[in-house]
Amino acid sequence: GREIHLASRPQGVPTPDNFRLVEVDVPAPAEGQVKVRNLVMSVDPYMRGRMNDVKSYVPPFQVGAALDGGAVGEVAESASPDLKPGDLVLHGYGWRDWVVGDARRFRRLEPVAPPSAFLGVLGMPGLTAYVGLLDIAAMKPGDTVFVSGAAGAVGSLAGQLAKLKGAGRVVGSAGSAAKVAYLTEELGFDAAFNYRDGDLAGQLKQAAPGGVDVYFDNVGGDHLTAAISRANVGARMAICGAIAGYNEPVPGPDNMMMLIGKRLTLRGFIVSDHEDRMPDLIREVGAWYAEGRIKAPETFVAGLENAPEAFLGLLRGDNTGKMLVNL
Ligand code: NDP
Repeated sequence: GREIHLASRPQGVPTPDNFRLVEVDVPAPAEGQVKVRNLVMSVDPYMRGRMNDVKSYVPPFQVGAALDGGAVGEVAESASPDLKPGDLVLHGYGWRDWVVGDARRFRRLEPVAPPSAFLGVLGMPGLTAYVGLLDIAAMKPGDTVFVSGAAGAVGSLAGQLAKLKGAGRVVGSAGSAAKVAYLTEELGFDAAFNYRDGDLAGQLKQAAPGGVDVYFDNVGGDHLTAAISRANVGARMAICGAIAGYNEPVPGPDNMMMLIGKRLTLRGFIVSDHEDRMPDLIREVGAWYAEGRIKAPETFVAGLENAPEAFLGLLRGDNTGKMLVNL
């Protein structure tokens, strides 16, 4: 089998040199274990944080060891009564094509959707969008909702969910003209703009002339500043991510004083604290997805050897929707 190891810790923007493809033996499963062939793996922005040697809500990756992350595979051999060959399983041993591990670490999936969906709309990013919008930002029908990183995995779902939940107006920002067109033409956003064109506050004002009631923040930095400046009284902000600052720190908002007069609520959250909402996601969003009322765009890169490039591409914005690696 093959694994991708962290060869060195990135300084700023990661490069291919920070990764190494390593050949490893794949043993037969011992009692209670399964041997799984991975089909698809996820690359996610939070992995950039784990490449730094800092204490966080997930432990850092170790230099010289395999990376890990979400993946879906098929059981090839089983020495556990709980799983049998051919079972589709969700687990945390991505960045490798084979894995042998304790069967309890693998969750059997009903094959109701393609394997990749369990890493996107019916998985962690889907739950992030669902919880962030409905529980953290407490979106109400009629709200004007602004989503940054709107063409990504979480953002594309948050915006569509807002529409389906009766938002009055849904506005998105993304990093290319093609993504902006995709948001309004394919995903039903009412307005969208390209943040690379500059004048964020001006573009947001034009897209949301009545102000913003809910901000779903995937970006931080200047996006958060603009959202605060365009927020209506009582607006709620789900602070989900801050990708503008993952490689290098960026300045934060300089208008925090507005939180007072506008009575704003900014609330950070971590999706793994909200696993109890998974059944609601599957029921509600799963039905919309099956009916074609929610689209779950995906960008695929082929081959484990190209997983580092997929991750670098994710940080650059090469993806529309969920970035995935087919193994
Ligand atoms: P995405 O699919 O959105 O991919 C990342 C995107 O970020 C890129 O496609 C790129 O799109 C955009 N981006 C990169 N650099 C910048 C920048 N400087 N300014 C603005 N946009 C940038 O990833 P996910 O949907 O998986 O994650 C979205 C956010 O949600 C991330 O911040 C992530 O950390 C966070 N998250 C938080 C969770 C939680 O529990 N709180 C759980 C899951 C995700 P573009 O072309 O538009 O620039």
